[in-house]
Amino acid sequence: MHDFHYQGEELFCEEVPIRQIAEQLGTPCYIYSHRTLIRHFHAFDQAFQAIPHIVAFAMKSNSNLTVLRILAREGSGADIVSGGELFRALQAGISPNKIVFAGVGKSKEEIRYALESDILMFNVESPGELQQINTVAGAMGLRARVALRINPDIDPQTHPYISTGLKKSKFGIGADQALGEFAAAGKLPHIEVVGVHSHIGSQLTQVTPFVDALKKAIALIQTLQANGVHIQYLNIGGGLGITYSDETPPHPKELAAAIFPLLQTVSCQIIMEPGRSIVGNAGILVTKVLYNKDGANKRFVIVDAAMNDLLRPSLYEAHHDIQPVMKNESSVVNTVDVVGPICESGDFLAKDRKMPQSQPGDLLAVMSAGAYGFTMSSNYNSRPRVPEVLVKGKDIIVIRKRESYEDLVRGESIPEVFSN
Ligand SMILES: *Cc1c(COP(=O)(O)O)cnc(C)c1O
Repeated sequence: MHDFHYQGEELFCEEVPIRQIAEQLGTPCYIYSHRTLIRHFHAFDQAFQAIPHIVAFAMKSNSNLTVLRILAREGSGADIVSGGELFRALQAGISPNKIVFAGVGKSKEEIRYALESDILMFNVESPGELQQINTVAGAMGLRARVALRINPDIDPQTHPYISTGLKKSKFGIGADQALGEFAAAGKLPHIEVVGVHSHIGSQLTQVTPFVDALKKAIALIQTLQANGVHIQYLNIGGGLGITYSDETPPHPKELAAAIFPLLQTVSCQIIMEPGRSIVGNAGILVTKVLYNKDGANKRFVIVDAAMNDLLRPSLYEAHHDIQPVMKNESSVVNTVDVVGPICESGDFLAKDRKMPQSQPGDLLAVMSAGAYGFTMSSNYNSRPRVPEVLVKGKDIIVIRKRESYEDLVRGESIPEVFSN
């Protein structure tokens, strides 16, 4: 469910016509719906209201400060994967005691910054990292709270690039090694083991892989308990899928219903890390048709947005629906590739897509672009990054302005030796 809908022939976000935003701010631009964002957060939060829990929004999916602030005000924490994300989370007012830090390659500096900020815990992904955290915490005279991320070897049945819980993946600690690692962690003077973490992948459309992974995590917690190690937090990760085209992913309520019986067998506070399921369908990317081009055996619709603005189609061959901002019922339907101006064959937003004939100047909405959209964007081909706009009721609020050419060269300088 989202708040992008047609009124008559025209696409709106909440009470605002998309066309009006494009006229005011130009294209391409990302547009987010405040109402959708809030509703999706509450869907998660309320599904788990019967048990103590923290929703730690996975901010790599969307790290705009205003988006984070809106979620923080609803009580959200954050799942971070870098020092930069920690900085953003703190700037946005997310409470440090709801911040968890994942990722296989945390640097010493990042670990120190997180300890100084007194975040809730690190989700540790390897024995080497555990040693490093122990060393840094020791030098600061602190004990670091950690959860060990286990790799439950579960196939989430999603795209290989977004599967993270298989043995061959770089993430987590193998289930067979886990007990040994918990024992080792327990002996480190500057480590306090407080949790078990498992995140098996993204865009999951069934509950079964969640249930299977959770069973393994719970078995581990029970074994630890029997060995006298009390685990306070169970982090079930993120990964709930969304509808991009015809997927029918479970609602957070259905996920909760499927795993509640399991969760009740342990006395842990539950942490969850949804990203995509909160912001994915709360955002679109609006682009303008520049040219229609007939190739030898393909028709191309060339638009002003490109892979640097939305990488998912190029990176994962991900599907995003593309809808006209103004419907034109009478028009001819063509099968086209929707491509951007970047000098790469991999630069496309859609391939072999049936779409009503569009004319230069027409606006198109690339749907479900709120997650892993702007955050993955780059300046490739020296293209300024596009603005992010929040719609709240009738209001249009720019929450990140379009970059300028000056922004592109900020930080660069030509040294004296090359000055003539
Ligand atoms: C990416 C990631 C998430 C969020 O995944 P979504 O599919 O966006 O919900 C949660 N936890 C970890 C550790 C991640 O790496």
